Amino acid sequence: MDGRLVQDSSMAVKKATDIFEKCSKFTRAKELIFAGLYPYFRVIESAQDPEVMINGRRMIMVGSNNYLGLTNHPKVKEAAINAVKKYGSGCAGSRFLNGTLTIHVELEEKLARFIRKEAALVFSTGFQVNLGVISALVGKDDVAIIDKMDHASIIDGCRLSYGEVKKFRHNDMADLERMLQHYDGKGKLIVVDGVFSMEGDVVNLPRLVELAKAYGARIMIDDAHGIGVLGRTGRGTAEHFGLESEVDLIMGTYSKSLASIGGFIAGSEDIIHFIKHSARSLIFSASPPPASVAAVSAAVDIIENEPERIARLWDNTRKMLDGFRSLGFQVGPSETPIIPIMVGDGETAFKMAMMLQEEGIFTNVAVSPAVPDGKALIRTSYMATHTDEQLDRVLSAFEKVGKKLGLIS
Ligand code: PMP
Repeated sequence: MDGRLVQDSSMAVKKATDIFEKCSKFTRAKELIFAGLYPYFRVIESAQDPEVMINGRRMIMVGSNNYLGLTNHPKVKEAAINAVKKYGSGCAGSRFLNGTLTIHVELEEKLARFIRKEAALVFSTGFQVNLGVISALVGKDDVAIIDKMDHASIIDGCRLSYGEVKKFRHNDMADLERMLQHYDGKGKLIVVDGVFSMEGDVVNLPRLVELAKAYGARIMIDDAHGIGVLGRTGRGTAEHFGLESEVDLIMGTYSKSLASIGGFIAGSEDIIHFIKHSARSLIFSASPPPASVAAVSAAVDIIENEPERIARLWDNTRKMLDGFRSLGFQVGPSETPIIPIMVGDGETAFKMAMMLQEEGIFTNVAVSPAVPDGKALIRTSYMATHTDEQLDRVLSAFEKVGKKLGLIS
């Protein structure tokens, strides 16, 4: 503060608030750095493979969303390189104006077919899909009804909308029904994660569909962690439950199984047409670059042509769920390749991540607000390309660290 004095309209003299004061008062991250417990922005010197290099040291990566292990696949990389050769490095504009290339339109057709919807629309990130789609659809007389554990981008999409926003208790269909009853008569959009990103549990879609039908609500699923993972052919949560035709909108991101960056929304022709002309994060932001788009297209082909990858991902998932449970760890409600190790106290979670790092294992820490207060966890996630030997090393490191911290006996 420079102690400047300003006068308000009543001529009383007040001290001005410095907008930057909050920055100098923000010490939480610095305390963690000082204590040697800071687990964020770690610099990786290699590709996003089952093993990565950090500070010149090889570590097993169980903190990546590269579920099918495609980010370093030769065909995906070749497609990206060829797209750069043909179209260059960027689009220099939004989809709406000069930024729509042949490959954007081709990818939209491919994704629509893959997701089994009439149409799809390609965005530059998954976050932008949720911002743009929810704010475009939920107008001032409508209500967005969302799960308490939905991803931050859904919450922010709701914040940008002019409608009301209501959160129901996590995966609690009775609570959802109470809200639907309350808002009878309004336009209603239920937005849920297909697979919840922190605890790896799956939405109760069969009941949600029944309720949506009974109360005239529409359904949008954020399938960031479902696509390439759930369903017989990797088409996601709706395929997993055999309810593809009952879900109005399916959102996906390219930053997980699809090995790139960007996102899409898929649904019926009319809705996609409306979103295309209303979503501000699409219209006023540059389109995804050629390399990213071509990589997604190649990744979709691989998902369709190499179903053994999904099978291998599930073998790894079962091995780790069983392994952690038999060591005595609490893995919460997880039923997917996202496996949280429940720790509870934030400080212990930070310590555990660092101890695991010393053992050569890369994990992620989730503390409030990513998870409820007092429910800190170590988030692990698996790839189709992890070997049994790597996974065994992960389990023995967890056993050693878990015993030291008194989490298991
Ligand atoms: N939804 C969910 C459930 C996510 O986990 C993420 C990414 N962490 C997003 C949306 C945003 O996707 P993107 O990384 O493409 O911005």
